[in-house]
Amino acid sequence: MKLFQNTYKTLPATFYQEQLPTPVSQPNLILYNKKLAQKLGIPKELEDAQILSGNKIVKGSTPIAQAYAGHQFGHFTMLGDGRAILLGEFETEQGTLVDLQLKGPGRTPYSRGGDGRAALGPMLREYIISEAMHGLGIPTTRSLAVVETGDPVYREIQLEGAILTRVADSHIRVGTFQYASRFASVDELKKLADYTIDRHYPELAEADQPYLELLGKVMEKQIDLVTKWQMVGFIHGVMNTDNMTISGQTIDYGPCAFMNVYDPDTVFSSIDHQGRYAYGNQGPIAGWNLARLAEALIPLLHEDEQKGLELAQEQLYRFPKLYEETWLAGMKKKLGLLGEQEGDEALVNELLSVMKDQKLDFTNTFRALTLGQEDDLLVYPMFSSWYQKWKKRVDDQPADVKEQSKQVMKQHNPHVIPRNHLVEETIEEAVEHGDYGKVEKLIEIMQTPYEWKSCEIYYTNVPGEVDKGYQTFCGT
Ligand code: AMP
Ligand code: MG
Ligand code: MG
Repeated sequence: MKLFQNTYKTLPATFYQEQLPTPVSQPNLILYNKKLAQKLGIPKELEDAQILSGNKIVKGSTPIAQAYAGHQFGHFTMLGDGRAILLGEFETEQGTLVDLQLKGPGRTPYSRGGDGRAALGPMLREYIISEAMHGLGIPTTRSLAVVETGDPVYREIQLEGAILTRVADSHIRVGTFQYASRFASVDELKKLADYTIDRHYPELAEADQPYLELLGKVMEKQIDLVTKWQMVGFIHGVMNTDNMTISGQTIDYGPCAFMNVYDPDTVFSSIDHQGRYAYGNQGPIAGWNLARLAEALIPLLHEDEQKGLELAQEQLYRFPKLYEETWLAGMKKKLGLLGEQEGDEALVNELLSVMKDQKLDFTNTFRALTLGQEDDLLVYPMFSSWYQKWKKRVDDQPADVKEQSKQVMKQHNPHVIPRNHLVEETIEEAVEHGDYGKVEKLIEIMQTPYEWKSCEIYYTNVPGEVDKGYQTFCGT
């Protein structure tokens, strides 16, 4: 039975290198996402540590490492899959293609100084957080499996090695286009763009200006994505252009973390010294990254470079307004502000400013408003004064709209998020003691974060000072 296709290999050879995973000594399947496998129609035979460790290559798969470049913290570099190998694309029951990629399968031609391997803790982290993001309704790559390799990896200390199987609509990144624009011919760039349109935005194929519209579509997708991050306090942590997908899915769960206390300056990544990827900067950075995509596409926009640039700029000028509108629409849903009323935007901003001043927990503040449990918050005079205005705005609506407004709040304010201390503690139990009970429980809870559950308190509590000095890391 043929499991995989390799349509990416129809692209010119400059975009990839054939690369087999390096065998591991004792693969052991520790997490397998049965629900995801079922949803996609992935056959039972794939639930096999030998296959998911790369030790055994199934028929039809010709593994490759993909080439890409990117701006890392603003600096352009050649990158590529240094510790990931694409097994191929799987055609889902819905008829779409998804990539199945191993993360941590050994060295590739793009590994530079790295070992091509991954440690267990960070792969569990990616599995938990990506599945949580999916539960929260945010576009994301998914996690199908984690396999322990039985081999150590060496960082500052010796760690247990692991391989994650990542499922993605594709792994085409802004950085893939930057690679094409910098290192390939215009014809090759065009082939990449055509492949991308065919795979993700087939409706654009017949457009007068398909590449310009591609830029516009990606912009819309990324605005949708990043504003959704803002709605749940997700901080990606490493929004380099190689970590921004063309499909609009969240990718690369290295140093990401969730904000507890609301503060736009929140940064957790140990290497983000300037706060480039701080919570409040994620919108502007998405815009910056899209400008890099636009630059890469210029040769396809017009034969005259100046005209191509102008066309790209025209698209990019849409960004700030569209971002603001999408963000505001999302925030209004969190506050149940239906329809258009003067003062709505001010109401949203005033709450954020109170939350910042009073150091309120982002998730729990909206949750309290959703559940009508504001008593603890009303002790703050600033909050109380904001609350009177909000209450009036919501209560002044006709009864049916008011009811609808409550429902909308319930659908947009999660009760639980994968809080940093929970994620750390579950991973520690697994890595230190081989106990996966907490990992499984957290994943289960995060599948329905908008539903009230009895076990909640444990998951919604925010221990004081928990984020002080909390740091996340890219590599491992
Ligand atoms: P990231 O910061 O996760 O987006 O990774 C940036 C680049 O570093 C990508 O090209 C990765 O493939 C590469 N990389 C990260 N870790 C390793 C590793 N252990 N071995 C080889 N390459 C790596
Ligand atoms: Mg990356
Ligand atoms: Mg990474």
